[in-house]
Amino acid sequence: MDLEEHSLDPVIERTCEECGAQLTDDEIRASLESGGRYLCSVHAAEELPAEEMETEGPA
Ligand SMILES: [Zn+2]
Repeated sequence: MDLEEHSLDPVIERTCEECGAQLTDDEIRASLESGGRYLCSVHAAEELPAEEMETEGPA
């Protein structure tokens, strides 16, 4: 049998893994491109390599 799977996964998460927020198409696309974790824009930004420590925010 030919079980070749297409790259399109029929089960696509549409909510943020961290907070459960519903993702936009752009956020889903970005999640796929960034490694497959489904994160909203807020948590996707937190997942980015912190080359600059400017994410501390005001105290
Ligand atoms: Zn989130």
